Order: sequence, then C-alpha cells, then structure tokens
Amino acid sequence: MSFYAYKDIIEAGDLVLAFISRGATKPITVTPGEVLNTRYGQFEHDLMIGMKYGSQMAGKKGYGFIHLLHPTPELWTLSLPHRTQIVYTPDSSYIVQRLGVGPGSRIIEAGTGSASFTHSFARSVGDKGKVFTYEFHEVRYNEAKRELEEHGLMKNTVITHRNVCDDGFEIDNHKVDGDVVFLDLPSPWTAIPHLNKVIAEDRQVGICCFSPCIEQVEKTVKALEDDGWTSIEMVEVAGKRWEARKDMVKHVDDVVKRLKDIQDRKSQGIEKLRNVNSTAPSEVSSTESTPEPPSKKQKRDRGFNPFGKGTRIKEGDDQYEWRDVTKVESEIKSHTSYLTFAYKNPNRKV
Ligand code: SAM
Repeated sequence: MSFYAYKDIIEAGDLVLAFISRGATKPITVTPGEVLNTRYGQFEHDLMIGMKYGSQMAGKKGYGFIHLLHPTPELWTLSLPHRTQIVYTPDSSYIVQRLGVGPGSRIIEAGTGSASFTHSFARSVGDKGKVFTYEFHEVRYNEAKRELEEHGLMKNTVITHRNVCDDGFEIDNHKVDGDVVFLDLPSPWTAIPHLNKVIAEDRQVGICCFSPCIEQVEKTVKALEDDGWTSIEMVEVAGKRWEARKDMVKHVDDVVKRLKDIQDRKSQGIEKLRNVNSTAPSEVSSTESTPEPPSKKQKRDRGFNPFGKGTRIKEGDDQYEWRDVTKVESEIKSHTSYLTFAYKNPNRKV
C-alpha cells in the first residue's frame, strides 16, 4: 500500500479508506479477525483481504454496503483524524497548481498540523523531490511522524520538531534548498526572515502563506516586502460546486387555469356538502350505500393537472416541458483562509 502508487488487491496490513456515506469515510488498517462496525452493518476485515480496491462490500447480515477505496491524499484529507484545522483539497490543489509543485520540487512546510497537506506534497514531488515539514507541538509532531512512517512517506519527507519562528528552518546534514514554501502558522511574518538561509538561489522560489484573517495578511505582506519578495498577491478560494439539473417549465396560462380549476372544484365540493347536510335522514334511501372516498388516482385524474401535481414525476419525463438549470451546492469542505502568494528570483526559472 502506498500513497505514491496504486495496487489492485487488498492485503492484510493495508490501509483502506472505507467509504461509508458521502460525509463519512473511515480509515482502517486491514487486520485479520477485526470487524468494522458502522450504522450500515458489520464488515469483516478477513473478507476484505483479496478483494479489489474500489469494490463494494456487503454487510455481514446481507444489508448495507461500503466501498473499499485506495488511499489518496485527497481521500485522506476527508478521513484523517483531525488534530488541528487542516487544508482541504480546494485550497491545496490551487496552491499546488499556482506554485508549480511537481516531480522534483523541494517543499518547506510549517506547521505540519494534521499532515493533511504534507500527504499531498509528498505524493506530488515524487522520488526526485523532497518535503521538509516542521511542527513545534510535540504530540502533533509525534503523531504526524508515526502517520508519515506508516504511510511510507518518509522516503521523501523529513519532519522536524521545531519552532520555526524562533529557530528557523536549517537542518543538520541536509541542504534544504527549497523552491516552494507553504506557511500555515499563526504568525508567518516571524518565520519569513528565516527563509533566506534555506531557499534556492539558482531558481525561482514561490511562497504561500495561509491565514484566516486580514490583519495577519497585512503583517505577512509587510514582512514579504521587507524581505525582498515580489509579485505579492492575495486570493481566497471560495469553493462552490454547481449542480446541473432540470426544472419543469410552467406557463402562466396553465398555472392560472389550474388555480381556477382548484377553486371550481372546491366550490362544487362545498355545494355538494351543503346539499347532503340539508337532506333529512329519512329522505336517504336505506338501500343507498355510502359512496367510497375517491382514491388518490381518482383525485389526480379529476380536473386540470398540467404539471403532474400529486404524482411522482421523474426529472426529464418527456410528457412535460423542462429547462436546464444550475444550482449551488452549499456544503463544500474548505477552510476559507486568505492565501498570500509571492516570489523570489522571479526571472530564474529552471
Ligand atoms: N497545514 C496543516 C494541515 O493541512 O494539516 C495544518 C496546520 S495547523 C493549522 C498549524 C500548525 O502549526 C499547528 O499544528 C501548530 O502547532 C503549528 N505551529 C504553530 N506555530 C508554529 C511554529 N512557530 N513552528 C512550528 N509549528 C508551529
């Protein structure tokens, strides 16, 4: 199992991301004898061994199912144990693209936090690149280190327990030589002056500082300017997913006719009720049975019903007129922060 490459078949000891529902993906290490308990049923690890990644797995009692997914940094971001706020894929993908992160890039990241972005960096830079990540909180550092080791990411990642604002980024036995810097810290402006000792001199270096409030951005911009960074720009990724669907076309004439029809039938009903009430019980024939109440279908079939009101209509049903519309899906996971970008050595592209 690896975040760098895919494999087909699940083996004991592998990390599987169990996709339970849209908002719930659970990471599990496949362990013989263990069972994954979910609200949709129980899933035995033994049965996962030998299955293909991506398969649908039925619950023990035959109802409910989950999907067994191969880990990727993007899915890991949705399922990891949170120890801090994390960077979600709408932001990380934008940063990776804008700073040109790719095979061979050398990343400087602080702080590591829950190592959400570290996974993405490690996968993107490949075996020719390097990720130097720093975390000053000891428990978080240990957790992140264990996780990176378990996920096989130490091949190209170096994690350091350090307060970068006080002690900078230099590492014994390593020339950092970073060309991409990502700072997700409360006070990046105190870390920026330390960067000069560890960033590349022979090629362009890009930086992104991730800060939730504009006062932090102002201080960061000032520190970047003071330190000779150029092309400073701040952006915010306001991720929205657009849902495309069909909406039934309703002509005003039809709507008016339908309203009139409803009103007419209501009046007729009231009239009928009045007649029944005014008939003395003796006048009602004892042989006349009470009429059955109309069925739902009878109710629907009566009257003018151009929009299928009260019936179950499939979107796009060709008996009705439709137009294509889009709608914003409000729930999208992204920790909205301001992203401040800047560059050094802008003309030295390698
Ligand atoms: N980007 C991370 C992710 O995607 O999982 C989340 C980072 S979290 C918001 C910020 C982290 O920076 C915290 O874990 C905090 O302990 C660490 N931190 C804060 N100041 C630091 C410093 N001066 N040096 C090193 N780490 C620091």
